[in-house]
Amino acid sequence: MKTQLVVIGGGPGGYAAAFYAADLGMEVTLVEMEKNPGGVCLYRGCIPSKALLHVAKLLHETKHSVEWGIEYAEPKINLDKLRDWKQSVVNKLTGGLGVLTKQRKINYIQGRATFVDANTLSIESNDGETTKLTFDNAIVATGSRPARVGTLWIDSPRMMDSTAALDLPDIPKSLLVIGGGYIGLELGTVYSALGTKVSVVEMTDGLLPGADRDLVAILQKRLEKQLHAIHLKTKVLGLKEEKKGIRAILEDADGTKREELFDCVLMSVGRAPNSQNLGLETTQVEINKRGFLEVDAQRRTREPNIYAIGDVAGDPMLAHKASHEGRVAVEAIAGHAAAWEPNAIPAVVFTDPEIAWAGLTETEAAKQGRAVEVARFPWAASGRALTLDRTDGVTKLLIEPGTQRLLGVGIAGPGAGEMIAEGVLALEMGATAEDLKATIHAHPTLSETVMEASEVFFGQATHIYKTRSGR
Ligand SMILES: Cc1cc2nc3c(=O)[nH]c(=O)nc-3n(C[C@H](O)[C@H](O)[C@H](O)COP(=O)(O)OP(=O)(O)OC[C@H]3O[C@@H](n4cnc5c(N)ncnc54)[C@H](O)[C@@H]3O)c2cc1C
Repeated sequence: MKTQLVVIGGGPGGYAAAFYAADLGMEVTLVEMEKNPGGVCLYRGCIPSKALLHVAKLLHETKHSVEWGIEYAEPKINLDKLRDWKQSVVNKLTGGLGVLTKQRKINYIQGRATFVDANTLSIESNDGETTKLTFDNAIVATGSRPARVGTLWIDSPRMMDSTAALDLPDIPKSLLVIGGGYIGLELGTVYSALGTKVSVVEMTDGLLPGADRDLVAILQKRLEKQLHAIHLKTKVLGLKEEKKGIRAILEDADGTKREELFDCVLMSVGRAPNSQNLGLETTQVEINKRGFLEVDAQRRTREPNIYAIGDVAGDPMLAHKASHEGRVAVEAIAGHAAAWEPNAIPAVVFTDPEIAWAGLTETEAAKQGRAVEVARFPWAASGRALTLDRTDGVTKLLIEPGTQRLLGVGIAGPGAGEMIAEGVLALEMGATAEDLKATIHAHPTLSETVMEASEVFFGQATHIYKTRSGR
């Protein structure tokens, strides 16, 4: 078999690239191990986790509604039905992608691809049959898998990675989450809402390393109420399976050791790129120390006709980053002038409250020694936030002194993940604080906090008396 373009991996990077290439008139083959495209994002990542987080939010709100004069009986959780619903969402989306693949006349091969040389792939189907495929260009979009601390991992149903946790095998009485990153916190939130006593252990001195501390503080305050415990600066020294659970040996910052028994343990310590066992050694493709494929601005590897996108091509490991890289690679293959140079890649943590940021963060500005002015609008002054009984949020803008150009946006609060889109557009359009101030926002909405934060910058916020932040 021969193809003009082969895409290896049908995740949000791979399928977006394959679809776009077909739309541009290329003859495309997509190789993926699953029956339909979707990747980690649709099968065991973004989508199932968000379906479960929606349920978690509902459970929290019905508890909280007592304060608004509405009382519900204790919820009864039918785990089979919940699992089925989550799976139906996954099936609808992946099935839909299967249809779109056919409609675009993409040659879809279910199987595992390995390079034989820089123009040939060997594809092994599930039943062990092997096919050779020659190609003009290839895009590697093989994604990533959960990372494991090998010395701690136990092969046991009580020990879960994110994939196993999303399967919802049952509702454990207690769960130790190792790692205070976004996946651990999102899944911890789900299990806690379902009734599990969740303890989070994080080695560094804060949750969500890399995110701005003022945003994280708002989330942490709420999580401290929702979760059983959050242990920062704490190391897991060892895990031992016993009859009644997994015993964890924990070491606090001051060196104190203690033991605790948990029903289950979720290891969420990051993700590792799928760059091994692909036969890349038969090509000139280079893999860096962290396991990512080295790529240039067009996402081309050191082998001129092989490109790489998504989780396998570097941080941030996010679905929308993968899809956009896919479009850049396809345009480069099509001979268009294309480069990967976004002003902002949004990051969203879908906890309650959500945290979202885009562009420069205060943490990064401090690291770079870059002067920025920060304008904060507290949600306590937002009418919409009050109607939702969620006044703990904040919207902040990072603005370049002198030019007043927007450099970054950070939001903590319900809906932050939707609201950040305005910040991303503003950053991509090179907007200034004045532009945001002059843009009419619908009332009463949380999006008004973006406009009011820009008013704060000028010391003219309607709903705050004379704050002139950062000056
Ligand atoms: C629990 C969880 C929640 C997440 N939530 C979010 C979120 O809210 N937002 C967000 O942006 N990101 C989220 N992510 C991250 C997101 O899923 C990834 O960034 C994204 O899926 C990466 O896309 P990709 O196309 O690079 O690869 P993947 O989605 O990893 O897909 C790679 C595909 O390649 C296939 N493959 C691998 N090797 C081969 C081979 N040799 N031959 C053929 N096929 C192969 C695999 O079967 C897989 O389907 C989450 C991840 C997890 C685990």
